[in-house]
Amino acid sequence: MFSYEEIKTIRKQFPILKKKNIIYFDNAATTQKPFKVINAITKYYCNFNSNVKRSFHFLGQFSNNCLELSRNNIKSFINAKYREEIIFTSGTTESINLIAFCIYKLIKKYDNIIISHSEHHSNIIPWQVLSKNKNATLKVIPVNSECELNIRIFNKLITKKTHLISISHVTNTFGIINPIKNLIKTAHKYNSLVLIDGSQAISHITIDVQNLGCDFYVFSSHKMYGPPGIGILYGKKQILEKFPPYQCGGGMIEKVTLKKTIFSGLPFKLEAGTPNIAGIIGTNKALNFIVNYSIIKINNYETKLLKYALKILSNIKGIKIYNYNLTKILSFNIENIHSFDLGKLLNNHGIAVRTGTHCAQPLMEYLKLNGTIRISFAIYNTIEEIDIFYNSLIKVLYFFIY
Ligand code: PLP
Repeated sequence: MFSYEEIKTIRKQFPILKKKNIIYFDNAATTQKPFKVINAITKYYCNFNSNVKRSFHFLGQFSNNCLELSRNNIKSFINAKYREEIIFTSGTTESINLIAFCIYKLIKKYDNIIISHSEHHSNIIPWQVLSKNKNATLKVIPVNSECELNIRIFNKLITKKTHLISISHVTNTFGIINPIKNLIKTAHKYNSLVLIDGSQAISHITIDVQNLGCDFYVFSSHKMYGPPGIGILYGKKQILEKFPPYQCGGGMIEKVTLKKTIFSGLPFKLEAGTPNIAGIIGTNKALNFIVNYSIIKINNYETKLLKYALKILSNIKGIKIYNYNLTKILSFNIENIHSFDLGKLLNNHGIAVRTGTHCAQPLMEYLKLNGTIRISFAIYNTIEEIDIFYNSLIKVLYFFIY
């Protein structure tokens, strides 16, 4: 567990926390960035800026090396078997869309795709569109009142015609940890592919894709202290090898004539055009940051914060808390108060929380909620901040009562 002094040192590494008098509890939307990440990006532009996969001068070589070093480190971080299994995209959203595009031709009429009721819109809409275009069925695993997947129904939904199951590892609304290992095991008995959306897990839970056995695991750098605009798509090599190119252009070919093109192998085949090189370098630094502090230690510390928040918030009259798995996401509502109103007033106290439906409108509709207030923690948050948040919340609630 981190000591008070350690957390103080960690906080000093985040310039925004020094400059702004703000309590930032919106980490599930995006995390703040440490100096290490910001400086690496600045240093790259000041000293080494150049393109990759094409320029053989020393700057180009440097950029290439940085790109491949990041790829190797990401491979180790999630324990992928081959570096070719790591594809850089612009984010989780693009990674999911890339997979939907690449399996498009393989989906046949009356095939089905399975998602859950508590997915982020990014993991609903691509499958909705694909199913509609291909006359396939989109099946949805329902959730119970505590927002856990109904596995009994999942076992009935899956058939030999299930092509893909796409499920979040941890839900962004209520921080539910889905039983993905069991789902993957069942899915593979039916020869279905499994895509795991790891956006809300990657900076909190140790990920071992070989142990999980998933076919795809996707996440975004900006939710793990890295820059926005970088996504990582892990896919099993034998599956990605069969994928057609997602986009076509520079950096992904062996040979082009006006009649035909011979495409590169993995990973370049799926990475057309100039990537966000500085972002990939920043992602590598973000990864180092997490590894350096240990994901297990980070998780333990965030759990401590969460338990404390749960304890003090549960004293508030009329509060309904939605947190069932002790993950770092805590959603709540206060009776008869709209989340937007509460969020706005907390903002006046310098507290940043997320309000609304969290890009999960189908789930909110099912639960008959017009939104929740969501607080989510990261390594730099403190017990003192939770106390300030609590006191501000009490003041704001007085405003509603009187
Ligand atoms: N999936 C989940 C569970 C998320 O929480 C998010 C972002 O909040 C996304 C997907 C989309 O991520 P991005 O906007 O980085 O593409």
